[in-house]
Amino acid sequence: RSGRSAALRARMEERLLGARFRYLNQQLYTGSSQDAARLFRADPAAFHLYHRGFERQVRRWPERPVQRIVRYLRRRPASLVVADFGCGDCTLAASVRNRVHCFDLVPLSPRVTVCDMAKVPLADESVDVAVFCLALMGTNLQEILGEANRVLKLGGTLMVAEVASRFEDTRAFLKAMTQLGFRTVSKDLSSSYFYLFEFAKTGSARPGPAPGLRLRPCLYKRR
Ligand code: SAH
Repeated sequence: RSGRSAALRARMEERLLGARFRYLNQQLYTGSSQDAARLFRADPAAFHLYHRGFERQVRRWPERPVQRIVRYLRRRPASLVVADFGCGDCTLAASVRNRVHCFDLVPLSPRVTVCDMAKVPLADESVDVAVFCLALMGTNLQEILGEANRVLKLGGTLMVAEVASRFEDTRAFLKAMTQLGFRTVSKDLSSSYFYLFEFAKTGSARPGPAPGLRLRPCLYKRR
């Protein structure tokens, strides 16, 4: 009997955690990056819950996108300086020899510099590679990618891995990226889970709206 009620309680707790994760996730995708920063500053426990939920989701995928970015960096010189926007648990920094600046809202690892990714404490044109691995979350995408443009050296690399179902119109997205000062070097749309893009910085972002930049929020279904 007590075994059964313990199992029932565990199931209820799982459901509650699942519901809170989906709610937090929805807030992250439907608000600005500043809203996200406020949310997690006010409630760091929410962040840990979010991360547990995130881990459970990506564990189901055949391949973690961050591993693709690790492989990419290992093929290039270890002297390249990297900025990881929305680094999570710093898997990337832990897996390569490069110097990696890790940015996130709450530190899951001592390597993390806590900040909003729309405003990172790096000098202009100071990094060779900027990475957004499942991290283009806020509605202020133009501001966030503008920040990556600012810190990247001319000709530097921008790597973006995002959930495939978030792309409404990939061509419009890539066109908008051109306006933000990024040329598409390669794209891999072969996975049904995530798309992977490599861009090169061609110059500063051109001012004005870039409507094609929009991505759908990534909302997880109840299971
Ligand atoms: N790149 C990691 C984690 C992806 S989860 C990986 O691939 O495993 C997305 C991460 O972006 C989360 O850790 C979340 O906290 C972070 N994030 C979301 N909004 C952010 C913001 N405004 N500033 C900094 N980090 C943010």
